[in-house]
Amino acid sequence: MTLYVGVALVTAAVLLFILYPIVKGQHASLEREDDELTDSEARKRLALLALRDVEYDFLSGKLDEEDYRSLKNDLTSEALAALEEDEAARESRGQGEHLDIEAEIALMRASLKGGLDCRECGFSNETGSLFCSSCGVSLSSPIAG
Ligand SMILES: [Zn+2]
Repeated sequence: MTLYVGVALVTAAVLLFILYPIVKGQHASLEREDDELTDSEARKRLALLALRDVEYDFLSGKLDEEDYRSLKNDLTSEALAALEEDEAARESRGQGEHLDIEAEIALMRASLKGGLDCRECGFSNETGSLFCSSCGVSLSSPIAG
């Protein structure tokens, strides 16, 4: 069942890609180090993005299974190699994490959460609220009657 091993590897790689900054960045300052992407980090990102595209292409029928497996194997080993290299590079530099992904996730969360600002008091209500949690004004009615 090599396909399932491959799927598990890809899933792990994508999860690492997503979770690494969150897990590793919990104690990190929000101030980002002023540095560029390292080669290994850039490679990792490219490989993971390409992996995602391969998954989509396969699911949407653009790739046959043979191409899919071969592409995925290549990209997975590329991504994993870059991941390891990147981690080694981080450790050797002894510096903090790259927080750009974390910042993106925070922005995404904020945009999901802060859907309804009260026009009366400015309180940021959760998406789907009918009334302002702070002053009770209706959030669904238009601003000008
Ligand atoms: Zn309000």
